Amino acid sequence: MTDSGRSTEVLVVGGGPAGAAAAFWLARQGHDVTIVERRTFPRDKTCGDALTPRAVHELERMGLGPQLAGAHRYFGVRVTGMDRELELQWPSHPILPQHGYVVHRDELDEMAARNAAGAGATLLEGHEAVQPLIDRGFVRGATVQDPDGATIDVAARYVVVADGANSRFGRALGTFRTREWPYATAIRTYWESPRHSEPWIESAIDLKDRNGNHIPGYGWVVPAGDGTVNVGVGLLSTFRDFKSANTAHLLDEYAVRIADRWQIDPERPHDKTASGRIPMGGSVGPKAGPTYLVVGDAAGSVNPFNGDGIDYAYETGRMAAQVLHDALAANDPTALQQYPRLLDEAFGEYFKVARLFARAVGRPGVMRELARAGIGNRSLMEWSFRIMANMLRPDELGPAEAAFKLASTLVKLAPNA
Ligand SMILES: Cc1cc2nc3c(=O)[nH]c(=O)nc-3n(C[C@H](O)[C@H](O)[C@H](O)COP(=O)(O)OP(=O)(O)OC[C@H]3O[C@@H](n4cnc5c(N)ncnc54)[C@H](O)[C@@H]3O)c2cc1C
Repeated sequence: MTDSGRSTEVLVVGGGPAGAAAAFWLARQGHDVTIVERRTFPRDKTCGDALTPRAVHELERMGLGPQLAGAHRYFGVRVTGMDRELELQWPSHPILPQHGYVVHRDELDEMAARNAAGAGATLLEGHEAVQPLIDRGFVRGATVQDPDGATIDVAARYVVVADGANSRFGRALGTFRTREWPYATAIRTYWESPRHSEPWIESAIDLKDRNGNHIPGYGWVVPAGDGTVNVGVGLLSTFRDFKSANTAHLLDEYAVRIADRWQIDPERPHDKTASGRIPMGGSVGPKAGPTYLVVGDAAGSVNPFNGDGIDYAYETGRMAAQVLHDALAANDPTALQQYPRLLDEAFGEYFKVARLFARAVGRPGVMRELARAGIGNRSLMEWSFRIMANMLRPDELGPAEAAFKLASTLVKLAPNA
């Protein structure tokens, strides 16, 4: 049954990083914005919990620097593989900080959503958008189910689709994933470890399946600073045997492999194992309709080089808010069509290079050879890390920038795969 409705200028469906950022930036500019989040904060989200410098920068832009300051800070990635290891500090950058943080998603997402509310957004927790409201062919809000099961219509001039990787709301509006492009699946759990407060996250680049074949993906250990480490495995869909790969087994094997070093008991995880699909490389679209924009995982905004998406969720949320502000200020809905162009300028070329990399490492033997070549060569690893972390310098042409320039020139000729 539909109760009395409400209305808002912009309805944001989903209160994760992308929705919280979009709502924050809209509210900051004085707009009437409502977030509907189907769960109640604090709510968990399956994740590695690692914030990159790009994510830290976005959180600081939203005024959350002081709240982050007490979180567990880390300085880079220790890459392991082929019985070797290499510590790679986050690259220096004229704008981005040289550190990341590890924050559980229940805390992180509540902090960002409350920050949006503090800026003036209305945050409706326990409210699920169950279907779009369509008026003469245009999306004008959503029918929303409240915690008691009653439904209300929330009418809006514009809608931001921020409902994450499965994006049922987005699918109801016609978004789809480009099936030929790579995606990933990842699984994680937590273990207690005396090394929980180390300032490095660890990444194993030589994962193997049960037959000893190197697989395109990586294992991670992310010290959370609270007595536990987040341990997980991510796998790219470009792997030949992807469909039959069992990520739970891969995680079990990885946990055994790191058990001594991290002093964990593989048999006794601290928490349940959880996994998720990761659409990546901008693979979901369309990103804009006449009255709606799609942000974060709902738009496939994850870096195919490393599976990080919190940073891109904040960034795409901010960019969506920017064009919605233009549309509202000028009373001109056509401003929304600038959003795909902004995304393309910011990430188009980078994501294309990264998708082709994901495709290349899916070929048998390529991952093994890259791991072997990389782990023995610090300078190669350092500039590769700068590329993979998307921390190229706008003001300097070092080896990373030169290599990326070459790669992007080559991929311009390649099909959009
Ligand atoms: C195992 C794993 C590990 C990962 N590790 C990392 C990492 O270490 N670092 C990193 O940067 N990224 C990581 N990622 C990716 C990262 O989690 C996502 O990119 C990020 O959460 C995207 O944010 P979002 O706001 O788009 O979506 P989400 O975080 O999924 O938020 C979507 C929100 O929408 C809500 N919602 C959904 N449907 C509705 C509806 N109909 N109505 C109302 N609300 C709705 C959901 O409850 C949810 O709160 C990982 C992903 C996985 C699966």
